[in-house]
Amino acid sequence: MPRPISAIIHLDNLQHNLSVVRQHSGQAKIWSVMKADGYGHGIKHIWPALKATDGFAVLDLQEAILLREEGWKGPILLLEGFFQPQDLGVIDQYHLTTSVHSEWQLYAIENAQLSTPISVYVKLNSGMNRLGFPVSGYQNVIEQLAKMENVGSITLMSHFANSDSHTGVIEPFEKIKQFSHLSLQTCIANSGATLWHKDTQYDWVRTGILLYGASPSGKSADIQQYPLKAAMTLQSEVIAMHDIAAGESIGYGSRFTASKPMRIATVACGYADGYPRHAPNGTPVWCNGTRCALLGAVSMDMLSIDITHCSDVKLGTTVELWGQNLPVDDVAQAAGTIGYELMCALAKRVPVRYEKSVE
Ligand SMILES: *Cc1c(COP(=O)(O)O)cnc(C)c1O
Repeated sequence: MPRPISAIIHLDNLQHNLSVVRQHSGQAKIWSVMKADGYGHGIKHIWPALKATDGFAVLDLQEAILLREEGWKGPILLLEGFFQPQDLGVIDQYHLTTSVHSEWQLYAIENAQLSTPISVYVKLNSGMNRLGFPVSGYQNVIEQLAKMENVGSITLMSHFANSDSHTGVIEPFEKIKQFSHLSLQTCIANSGATLWHKDTQYDWVRTGILLYGASPSGKSADIQQYPLKAAMTLQSEVIAMHDIAAGESIGYGSRFTASKPMRIATVACGYADGYPRHAPNGTPVWCNGTRCALLGAVSMDMLSIDITHCSDVKLGTTVELWGQNLPVDDVAQAAGTIGYELMCALAKRVPVRYEKSVE
């Protein structure tokens, strides 16, 4: 018998979530963001469920090549562009769209030997100070690229640091709008902006987290009004149960001590599976229809939950760490992180099952 933990990827839910994003993105085309191996879901297996998208946005060349080898013929965007001039050969060969964010990349493009002009997304630093050309030099960069034989279409790209707040996009958006006289194709909205700042949608949106059914703000309540569904369920089983008396403790460091008699269950899931080790006592864990509380420190391979008020728990009862019954955001929030991190951190040792109910 294998260890009873698995991740289930709900392919129908991915497909469904894309249609929800479509309903909320107006006339804009959709880049389905698949970096970090599809936020931990596995690009190779999930891309067919998202093939109604207009394009896939990835981080590195390997992810782009994989999609081409799997048969995707539509647009592919390299979100962080290329990391060295030689990459332009691959971009040319596989017809990739690349972002351009630094001066050195302009010279690399100008001097590359390409078979066809490439489409570029020129990144404007609108205040995040991570990647992109400053407002002061942006128009000049566009003018330089427009003159290059190696450059085909040019799109204005920028990224928001605070798309989940009401006022967070105002200042960067003002900077972006200074370039509207250039009449460029424009792509600036991530998931948060797509939902909550519709005037930022323009020609293309770049949505990641919504496809996976989690919240751009990290709070499940913020997406409750949208019919999104969890794309990943991490589940395991109860492998032991104990009745403990007041004064007894649980796990490493005896982080939890019972103040009354309790019944606890040991679950086959630990931090080596990608469960956050810093999850505090009380982090929700779903067991048999009830939200139970995590108790004690998460071990490498196991964790403990309070089942005192949870009926019918037996050895082998299914436990959901996050997924269709328990939003990943709720677990992440308790653990001081965001759903993105938990899904991306799903460990290699967890067997993954891809489920699809309709063909
Ligand atoms: C990851 C990423 C996105 C998608 O962000 P979500 O919040 O998951 O929608 C969009 N644009 C860029 C540049 C990114 O790196």
